[in-house]
Amino acid sequence: MPDLVASIDAGTTSVRFMIFNEFAEVQASHGLEFTQYFDHPGWQDQDAHEIVDKVLECVDQAIKKLEQKGGKASDIKVVGITNQRETTVVWSKTTGKALTRAIAWPDTRTTHTVRQLAEKSDKGTDAVKLETGLPLSTYFAALKLRWMLDNIPEVKKAHDEGDMLFGTVDCWLLYNLTGGEVHLTDASNASRTMFMDLRKQTWDPKLCDFFGIKMEILPEIKSSSEVYGKIKGGALDGVEIAGIVGDQMAALIGQKALSPGEAKNTYGTGAFLLYNTGTKVVDSKNGLLSTIAYKAGPNAEPVYALEGSIAVCGSGIKWLRDQLGLIKEASEVGDLASQVEDSGGIYFVTAFSGLLCPYWDDCASGMIIGMTGYTDKRHFARATIEAACYQTQAVLAACERDSGVPLASLQVDGGMTNSDVAMQIQADILGLTVERPEMRETTALGSALLAGAAKGLFGWDISKPETLSKVNAKGKQAFKPTISEEKRKELLHGWERAVERSRGWLE
Ligand code: ADP
Repeated sequence: MPDLVASIDAGTTSVRFMIFNEFAEVQASHGLEFTQYFDHPGWQDQDAHEIVDKVLECVDQAIKKLEQKGGKASDIKVVGITNQRETTVVWSKTTGKALTRAIAWPDTRTTHTVRQLAEKSDKGTDAVKLETGLPLSTYFAALKLRWMLDNIPEVKKAHDEGDMLFGTVDCWLLYNLTGGEVHLTDASNASRTMFMDLRKQTWDPKLCDFFGIKMEILPEIKSSSEVYGKIKGGALDGVEIAGIVGDQMAALIGQKALSPGEAKNTYGTGAFLLYNTGTKVVDSKNGLLSTIAYKAGPNAEPVYALEGSIAVCGSGIKWLRDQLGLIKEASEVGDLASQVEDSGGIYFVTAFSGLLCPYWDDCASGMIIGMTGYTDKRHFARATIEAACYQTQAVLAACERDSGVPLASLQVDGGMTNSDVAMQIQADILGLTVERPEMRETTALGSALLAGAAKGLFGWDISKPETLSKVNAKGKQAFKPTISEEKRKELLHGWERAVERSRGWLE
């Protein structure tokens, strides 16, 4: 087979290994779910070792599939990593073993920690926003690490005695895949820890002091596209890992939204809208995050993005499936929703872990409002999809206010975009065309592109989008708005009223 590039896509609920050719056609792939531990309300833990094991299993299985198609492991010239961001792993320098379970990004146990830290600053939750682009929130790694230090004696001891390493999931996987030789992360992942200076891409001693952590535990910050190390052992022994980028930034790259003013929304467990602002940091006045999208090489300037994060998207659909038993498979939600013309006047504010952008309310609670005797499960299905779509609308409106540039169309990907019904609802709620690529594994593709570019494969150069013209070029499906502007405004008004009622409930 010709040269191939591969990506480890370590998502929130599942991990995947995908092997692409130069056109981004998937040659083989394998995915596996891993365990989520919900031991207390608001908690979400993961076993960091299980993530590594499942990744290795995916690599083996995908390579077996590649071999069945006549390929071989040695066709894979380079590997990229993309990952759920903010999820916090701490391990022992001596043993390489995790010191506790990883705290996953949607976990809200740190609400109290957020309050305490906000009280330390006269800027409240904006205490470190200028340096990091992020408001104090349960979402980011620094808060999760602070909680571990305050609550888990083994973690505190290892930290104090100099035996602890910290990393997000990219860093943890790289450490394990290279046999414990490499402890580094890329600038996009580092920008979500709250320890990094957004403009300098270096760890900031003042931020480390603010959160009370030793800087030595942090990995080295590298660009998103360069050789970091070699895989040790297994079918890919000796293959270089050369691209690392957070999953949402990876999707921006995979969608080739590489120029300022381009945006994508990924509808996975949560939904994440990223709006490329080029080499300049736009400081949001409307509740968005400023983040590094990627740094395309050691000498490249970083590209920034505004980001709106929505905590519950596909996980709302999973909730209908697992907690209510309304559907057997996530894919049934679209069929059920399509049986009714609208949600029958109900709104489902899916604030299971508070509300993130642009509302920022840790105390908002999940709520369904507007029910009558007429309401049935079809309306629930529709309202669950709509919740993700309304929140996307709110985020996009904030992006437009911050940047002053209205978006022409929205590029989409992620699990929920498999539903045509959901994408039509989204186009209607946005009043904008929604464009869905044929090959939707844009997250995996983004890190494969960075890894390929680092090795000069296929002439790919992330800073020259024209070099990617043959990548995933099979065309897109467009969903155009069908409802009147008046109807759209009425629906948006209803949503905002519902959000107001859910706010502050947990105070
Ligand atoms: P992640 O990378 O965050 O694990 P994915 O992009 O794989 O997420 O998307 C998974 C989510 O997409 C699930 O939460 C599921 O509810 C939702 N999903 C998957 N298929 C469909 C479908 N056909 N219709 C609606 N939602 C879907």
